[in-house]
Amino acid sequence: MTERPGSGQGNDPRSAELAERLAVVRKRIADAAGTAGRSDRPPSLIVVTKFHPAEDIRRLAALGITDVGENRDQEAAAKALELADLDLTWHFVGQLQTKKAKSVARYAAAVHSVDRPQLVDALAKAVRNEMDSNGRSPLDCFIQVSLEEREHDGDGGTHRGGAIPADVPLLAERIAAADSLNLAGVMAVAPLGAPPEPAFEKLAGISARLVAAYPAATGISAGMSQDLEAAIRFGATHLRIGSDILGSRPAVG
Ligand SMILES: *Cc1c(COP(=O)(O)O)cnc(C)c1O
Repeated sequence: MTERPGSGQGNDPRSAELAERLAVVRKRIADAAGTAGRSDRPPSLIVVTKFHPAEDIRRLAALGITDVGENRDQEAAAKALELADLDLTWHFVGQLQTKKAKSVARYAAAVHSVDRPQLVDALAKAVRNEMDSNGRSPLDCFIQVSLEEREHDGDGGTHRGGAIPADVPLLAERIAAADSLNLAGVMAVAPLGAPPEPAFEKLAGISARLVAAYPAATGISAGMSQDLEAAIRFGATHLRIGSDILGSRPAVG
């Protein structure tokens, strides 16, 4: 650690910058929740810290953040290890290969990107092993739904992923049947290049059908920096906010 003592405690310029940005986002959330008539049930804030250093997460924890999101296992695992002294809840929000399930089961409390049966099975097994050997709790699983009208390229190489809506009931059944997994709800990323409202409205409908069959699966993980107001309007319970709090992501590679 080359970090000065006191950094991460709110005394350095980066902490001040994060505090300022976080205050703006918190105000946007409170305003949108007020407009939606849900000030009594505001969504929870997950700060997506991908590509930003562990020290930023330490600063955010000092600012009261408890929930962080990551989209790459290697990066998330390293950060979770480095920050093991903090009481953080780790959310995995990215595309997940089944071979990474074992690693994710070691640190993640929730996976927001469950989109196929093989992944359900891999997570169920990996979390079961962690429950038996280390006493971890069941993993919260959000079914990621694709809201694209059709799959297309031009996504900047990012696969946004997600199950088609028709596959949600089968995935839900499979998650609910695994005693190491907890069916938390649905998740989506709004399609690029289109207004987010119709997508989030569609997600709300998918959520309502899921909750009719699984009353506890009330989670709606939706809303990023650009569209958190629309997501809140359509019932988001978990926001995943990155760049508006942390700034633009450092270039990789
Ligand atoms: C990066 C990411 C976010 C955060 O997006 P911002 O636009 O930076 O707020 C949310 N969800 C997922 C799945 C992500 O990969």
